[in-house]
Amino acid sequence: MDKTDFDLCIIGGGINGAGIARDAAGRGLSVLLLEAKDLAQGTSSMSTKLIHGGLRYLEFFEFKLVRESLQERERLMGIAPHILSPMEFVLPHNAAHRPFWLIRLGLFLYDHLARRRFLPGSRMVNLKASAFGVPLADHYTRGFVYSDCWVDDARLVVLNAMDAAEKGAKILTRCVCTKILPKSQHWAIEYQPEGATKAKSITASMVVNAAGPWVRKVLEGSGLDSQVKPVPNVRLVKGSHIIIPRAYAGEQSYILQQSDGRVVFVIPYEDEYTLIGTTEEDYEGDLYEPRISGDELRYLCAAYSTHFEADITRDDVLWTYSGVRPLFDDGHSENRAVSRDFYLHEHLESRAPMISVFGGKLTTYRVLAEKVMGRLLNLDHRYAPPWTSEVPLPGGDIAEGDRETFVRKQGQLYTWLPADLLARYVRSYGTRMERFLEGAEGLDDLGVHYGDGLYEAEMVYLIRYEWARTAEDILWRRSKLGLHVDEATVQALEKALPDLKKKVLGDE
Ligand SMILES: Cc1cc2nc3c(=O)[nH]c(=O)nc-3n(C[C@H](O)[C@H](O)[C@H](O)COP(=O)(O)OP(=O)(O)OC[C@H]3O[C@@H](n4cnc5c(N)ncnc54)[C@H](O)[C@@H]3O)c2cc1C
Repeated sequence: MDKTDFDLCIIGGGINGAGIARDAAGRGLSVLLLEAKDLAQGTSSMSTKLIHGGLRYLEFFEFKLVRESLQERERLMGIAPHILSPMEFVLPHNAAHRPFWLIRLGLFLYDHLARRRFLPGSRMVNLKASAFGVPLADHYTRGFVYSDCWVDDARLVVLNAMDAAEKGAKILTRCVCTKILPKSQHWAIEYQPEGATKAKSITASMVVNAAGPWVRKVLEGSGLDSQVKPVPNVRLVKGSHIIIPRAYAGEQSYILQQSDGRVVFVIPYEDEYTLIGTTEEDYEGDLYEPRISGDELRYLCAAYSTHFEADITRDDVLWTYSGVRPLFDDGHSENRAVSRDFYLHEHLESRAPMISVFGGKLTTYRVLAEKVMGRLLNLDHRYAPPWTSEVPLPGGDIAEGDRETFVRKQGQLYTWLPADLLARYVRSYGTRMERFLEGAEGLDDLGVHYGDGLYEAEMVYLIRYEWARTAEDILWRRSKLGLHVDEATVQALEKALPDLKKKVLGDE
């Protein structure tokens, strides 16, 4: 092989690109990751945020996918206990949608397809005698309860990127890859940094195209979509969520069966809200700006109102978000039937390896990364073997699965921290909160307060270690504080950022 600038260049800083960067850097490869915008600015911050087997995929006989996802659920609970939370799901039974025995069978499989260490198995519930039945429509008498996990999706991305960087990877955000040129034994990659007049180029021995919904666009821009081996299609399916004020007491979520065979989740969100989603609509618009349609809004309000005692209308909706699933097109006509499994396409234009990633789920990103690396390295013993299944992500080295004990411990250490701020820091940063709290003896030591619990020390940390550059990065991806803070705080933060960035990054 020719001498190149990097062993591996990854296009796309969503969950798949960041996961692959972490895996590769940890095996000793020199890695460059190019992300066109901010980390997780594509689909990976717009998901339902479940780390789950996907109960409904059993109906499509996707046993391998569900088993692999359930295994990953356990592994991710082990490596990211700070940002993952176990969550109970109540499934109110409606015989018109699926017979009782079918759901029992499905849940039996769900309980037994993979080994469980952290989560309890499923059970039946009398909704008339349980608090879980209180918010539901009166006609529901029985149902089921099972467990899955919730994760802050955008933080999962950034933690993977951080770990990759700590292992030597170069992560460049706001750099669009414009060309991937095959050379006989390597690849030449051109990219355009935001605001720069000139494009840059590097060489790499291997390339991974993990551009999610843009996977084909990246290939088309380089003429790599029609050569040698046919490239599969990507099916772009929009999914939207609505957020309403907290709708019921309790931490349980609900999974609602729809008459079209789909399911809609209702999830407690960010303490004060309830999240309802999602939909499935074919999508052809701007991939960075998907928006909820009137039909989706009506569908989600109706899904909630049919199953719950209280009705909601669009007037109850405080905020919405939409994302585009980059599904591997397996030829199914119905969006809900298209597999959520991933497909790795190997390109043959150069003797140097290149893979494009199609499809996948947040839940399976780690195993996807492992498989990508397995294919690329093809038993190349110069590099370390798979390693990511048990090593905690940054900040995840708290006692296994025991976030509450860690909260108590940190509370004793930082007695002056308000309880809500302490809880937020633990849920976002785990042990890494020490990096900006160490040595502080009171809130005054955290620097300027921009409002609503946003202190300078945390902002500096986000700029220095998490590639945050704008208020939107901070308020909507590194956190979901955008839902809580008022306009004065946003303005104070926006005003402060240029100086903060200069202080932390110099003239980068
Ligand atoms: C509504 C919805 C709900 C979902 N819910 C769940 C769920 O609950 N659980 C679950 O497991 N999965 C869920 N998923 C699936 C999951 O979110 C996706 O599979 C995953 O986020 C895709 O990640 P990705 O890295 O492939 O793509 P993305 O996150 O979109 O990342 C691709 C990145 O590539 C960048 N890029 C594009 N072009 C270029 C270029 N030329 N140069 C450099 N960078 C470029 C983009 O800016 C983007 O950041 C959901 C998806 C949707 C849409």
